[in-house]
Amino acid sequence: MYVKNVIEKVKSNYPSQKEFHQAVEEVLISLSPVIDKNKKYQENAILERLVIPDREIHFRVTWVDDKGNVQVNRAYRIEFNSAIGPYKGGLRFHPSVHEGIIKFLGFEQVFKNSLTTLAMGGGKGGSDFNPKGKSDGEVMRFCQAFMNELYRHIGAHTDVPAGDIGVGGREIGYLFGQYRKLTNRFDGVLTGKGLSWGGSLVRPEATGYGCVYFAEEMLKERGESLEGKVCTVSGSGNVAIYTVEKLYHLGAKPVTVSDSKGMIYDEGGIDVALLKELKELKRASLEEYIKIKPQAKYTKISDYKEGSNAVWSIPCFAAFPSATENELNAIDAKTLLQNGCKCVSEGANMPSTLEATDLFLKAKICYGPGKAANAGGVAVSGLEMAQNASKHSWDFEVVDKHLHNIMENIFANSSQTAKEFGDPTNLVLGANIAGFRKVADAMIDQGIL
Ligand code: GLU
Repeated sequence: MYVKNVIEKVKSNYPSQKEFHQAVEEVLISLSPVIDKNKKYQENAILERLVIPDREIHFRVTWVDDKGNVQVNRAYRIEFNSAIGPYKGGLRFHPSVHEGIIKFLGFEQVFKNSLTTLAMGGGKGGSDFNPKGKSDGEVMRFCQAFMNELYRHIGAHTDVPAGDIGVGGREIGYLFGQYRKLTNRFDGVLTGKGLSWGGSLVRPEATGYGCVYFAEEMLKERGESLEGKVCTVSGSGNVAIYTVEKLYHLGAKPVTVSDSKGMIYDEGGIDVALLKELKELKRASLEEYIKIKPQAKYTKISDYKEGSNAVWSIPCFAAFPSATENELNAIDAKTLLQNGCKCVSEGANMPSTLEATDLFLKAKICYGPGKAANAGGVAVSGLEMAQNASKHSWDFEVVDKHLHNIMENIFANSSQTAKEFGDPTNLVLGANIAGFRKVADAMIDQGIL
């Protein structure tokens, strides 16, 4: 009843924030067993407190485009919860950004960051600015204008933003430069920095590598592995690229990637060097892939079957949704299961709809929800903060080993918690309860705030 009431209140208080409802519903329903067992959570109004961010900053970003026109964008930083560490989470620059999207991402981040075992609270931010098609100068001026407001709210010990969709190394560079200019401080206030100015090795690879390590752990428990297996990956950003790369390291064959215009199916295996060249250097469309590799098949989004994502129609052993929220619905989940898919490890945040998640859980395949499977990115951000604080930088192997251990730990903790609550294969339940307990208990320890 308590859980249901809090969910209903979120829905009626914020009727237009559908993605936020979805994230809250998924988490809160799975928390029911721990809430029922421990009266202290209700007595301390923990759920009511968790679903309202500590604070939300809405601001305007005004900048001038290359033609001299004044442009105005909406921007947000939502500081969700800092019970176990400074607010931490990425910035998303994408036209779909609105308050509800940032709230769902910030809410997820609270539990994800808790699972990493590092001292990081949860936050998220972004803007409806679209970096696609903009010149470097326009992106720089936008980032500078964005930081002109953001700088007063963040700090290495208060709130540490990073990248997300539309925010990569270039944007972090412009944001960091402007922060330094405005404050006259060289602090670890952002993560995902360049290597020569405080960044960490393995940060660009971390989410993708971590997501594959997580899949490996899920499969290992069942005596299976990725070796020799066909895998499908969606997206072609940072997460997808390094998921593809790590799959090759483990002897698997990734055969798909996608972008906002369509998808590539390369039966012989995605050419990772070509993918990096197109997406990291040229910022080009995947259509260019088939000009160089005509044996691959390109399907335009307009040719996808109605209501489904063509990536998930390709038979595979393991699927890695690494594009964006709700990119995998019930139809896609059914297709994957019918085609014998045994493992889904989520590189994106909330890529599966609630219905798709239910189907995976019922089928009892290895299903790694985003907040567990994609926590490697923010985990290495936490390691970047540790390196900045100690003024040391660690070798690639050292950071990668930490990342691997953290992913093993997240799996072990989620799986053990799922077993404790009598649903051993349900990592949604396990990850949510494990992430929740640490934050909720810290909130209780620190009093009514
Ligand atoms: N945007 C990433 C995420 O969803 C990384 C956040 C960070 O490194 O702070 O977890």
